[in-house]
Amino acid sequence: MDPFGVAWHAPLGWWGVAWAAGIAWAAYRARSLSPSGAWAAWGVGSAILALGGWAWGVLLLAFFVSSSGWSRWAAARKRATAEKFAKGSRRDAGQVLANGGLAAALAVAYAWQPAARWWAAFAAALAAAAADTWATEIGVLHPRPRHILSGRVVAPGTSGGVSPWGWAAAAGGAGLLAALAGLLAPGEPNGRLALSVWLGGLVGSAVDSLLGATVQAMYYCPACAKETEQHPFHRCGARTQHRRGWPWLHNDGVNAASIAVAALVGFLLGG
Ligand SMILES: [Zn+2]
Repeated sequence: MDPFGVAWHAPLGWWGVAWAAGIAWAAYRARSLSPSGAWAAWGVGSAILALGGWAWGVLLLAFFVSSSGWSRWAAARKRATAEKFAKGSRRDAGQVLANGGLAAALAVAYAWQPAARWWAAFAAALAAAAADTWATEIGVLHPRPRHILSGRVVAPGTSGGVSPWGWAAAAGGAGLLAALAGLLAPGEPNGRLALSVWLGGLVGSAVDSLLGATVQAMYYCPACAKETEQHPFHRCGARTQHRRGWPWLHNDGVNAASIAVAALVGFLLGG
């Protein structure tokens, strides 16, 4: 079935490359992407629209527009804790590829072998990315997040800190992508596929928090006496010291790993 008479899963070819350029340009002009992020988004968007089609673009935009929207909404409120995060609200190439690189690869896989489970894996990858972004932007406003493993209260913005607001936001972000994925599933709307995508997004979100609490690299700024993800320099200019975690595993790597787990859940359950 084609809701609204659109061929949702017809590859757009070079038109997809052109549309992706327009969307990346608009996001750059809206200051949602840095210059490197805009180039990366053009590449990711081109693969998804050229090889996937409109349905694939709808999911990508649902993730990107909602995440950017929450970032702006929360920007003023979270200013006090923002320095804990390594990067500002403009997405750079590392963030775009960590959140969208696997999704682009899954659109390539669907073009090679058009099976519903590639679509489910693609949607679950974006569901996890949305869950993580929504939880980060909304959860950070909770005054007393708790460490996911120890349960002790940690400062807002601490990696591995979770709160009821963060979990609800994660469920909402993954739920939006899951609903769209089920509605626009290849063939006809598919509730089971939607549930698989939602579950994948939630599992990915939990993995993200667990990795953030255990093995993600964290640093310490001696000048500000604060823990931070920023390295090698804190925003104050002082050199940060490694405190815990694997020195090579930063936030982008944690995102990419949790998104891969989500895609695997979608792939296994969504076929
Ligand atoms: Zn500092």
